[in-house]
Amino acid sequence: MQTMPTSTVDIDDVLRNVPRLEGAIPMYVDGAWRLARDGATRDLINPANGERIATVAEAAESDAELAIRAARKAFDEGPWGSMSAADRAAMLFKVADAIDAHRDEFVSIDTLNNGKPLRECEYDAVDAANCFRYYAGYATKPHGQTFDVPAPSQTFTVREPIGVCGQIVPWNYPLLMAVWKLAPALAAGNVCVLKPAELTPLSALRLAKIFEELEFPKGVVNVVTGAGATVGHAIAESLLVDKIAFTGGTKTGRSIMHAATSNLKKVSLELGGKSPNVVFADADFDTAVDYALFGIYANAGQVCSAGSRLLLQESLHDRFVERLVERAKKIRVGDGFDPNTEMGPIISPVHRERVEAYIKIGIDEGATLRCGGKRMGGALAAGNFIEPTIFDDTTPSMRIVQEEIFGPVLVVQTFGDEAGAISMANDTVYGLAGAVFTQDVAKAHRVIRKLRAGITWVNTYHPTYNEAPWGGYKQSGFGRELGTYGYDAYTEVKQINVNLDVQPSGWFGD
Ligand code: NAD
Repeated sequence: MQTMPTSTVDIDDVLRNVPRLEGAIPMYVDGAWRLARDGATRDLINPANGERIATVAEAAESDAELAIRAARKAFDEGPWGSMSAADRAAMLFKVADAIDAHRDEFVSIDTLNNGKPLRECEYDAVDAANCFRYYAGYATKPHGQTFDVPAPSQTFTVREPIGVCGQIVPWNYPLLMAVWKLAPALAAGNVCVLKPAELTPLSALRLAKIFEELEFPKGVVNVVTGAGATVGHAIAESLLVDKIAFTGGTKTGRSIMHAATSNLKKVSLELGGKSPNVVFADADFDTAVDYALFGIYANAGQVCSAGSRLLLQESLHDRFVERLVERAKKIRVGDGFDPNTEMGPIISPVHRERVEAYIKIGIDEGATLRCGGKRMGGALAAGNFIEPTIFDDTTPSMRIVQEEIFGPVLVVQTFGDEAGAISMANDTVYGLAGAVFTQDVAKAHRVIRKLRAGITWVNTYHPTYNEAPWGGYKQSGFGRELGTYGYDAYTEVKQINVNLDVQPSGWFGD
């Protein structure tokens, strides 16, 4: 079902607080706004209608180098790392308040740039402010341990910032992914070189304006806009960067990990997924159908933790799929600015073609296309819209079952018993998320404990909390964001031993 595009959005108004230099949106480096040294720019395109939104500076390696050097100087010589945790926290609370104060702007910017419906961007903006609040609060909490070692030593640990953190994020949650990285890093006293996805840099640049207005010390937060293969790679490889935190595709993660060997920098990777949503016959039917839809079609399936494999118990299968298809066909697809829209576009024509190629692969592999599968025409023809799609009658070895499609494409698999569900659920190279729907509490716990995945849900799908860790098993990456784990990932642990009986050891004769 289509909603109509809204042609009433005033782009200048949405971007009113995003700086411009010579007609282009500049980067934020060393506390100043600057264009690329070679003057290169990139046009940003609205995925809902194919129209140009703005022109943004396109950095080259040398621009990344400038930002890295500024960050290095800020960490080595600036006040940020040595500031008291309470002072840092106070500044981060102000960032949270500023995001809240400008929530409407952040919401419109992400809808304009990413295409997702306003209500999804609203969740992201609320979460983003709360993420800063969470880590502002955590900055001043106890972080070390003491150890009961033999006398005369006293031993304890302190957590210290790692240093210059390169942070590379994808386009599917432009504001939130940037904040998940910046907030814990800054709370722990690090400095940051953030590279947003080249397609969606606008909300990160708007956020940079907040850091500028709040007078964060120069070089503490740098936002460099440009391509992954150049700017992203330069950050991952730089000898001046101490840690790289990446969210994105598994293939890119592998390349970043390789580049990071240059100086053995710390690496954390949040990668792709092909997450199982397991529904047993005794589940609450309407709840399970509802979350199966939400699991795959939220953000048009462009979610790392999407429930892209629906595992149905045999006896439930026919009735469940019938209802699911009925509801999927009713999803209102359209321009994110239309308040009636429930699902927005795919991020770009290139990505839409990738998703379409997978739909063709599914058909060629012999799966049954139960609904969707087509590009949307009519009023939506100029945007990158694809119908909510469901494949049934799949086999575990099919590519559409094994590979991440990252679009509104659900594959249905069928299992007999609990053991079969578990082995099918774990049968991909990924291990990011998974869910179980059943009214049998013991069964829910048994199955969840057997899932090889870092984020799991029982009788729900997708809720994500700033307070709880986020990350994957297997080829979905390593390290955890959010919660106390997310803070720890931006710290080094220093062991401190104090001799309480100060006299020569006598080990060597005098
Ligand atoms: P991507 O890997 O193509 O790009 C992500 C970021 O990496 C972008 O900023 C890009 O410019 C940069 N990049 C690309 N090549 C690079 C290179 N060689 N060196 C350094 N940086 C490089 O991913 P995408 O298409 O933007 O996002 C989709 C992917 O992200 C999906 O696989 C999805 O599952 C994953 N994702 C994971 C999580 C998570 O928390 N696990 C969250 C969101 C998205």
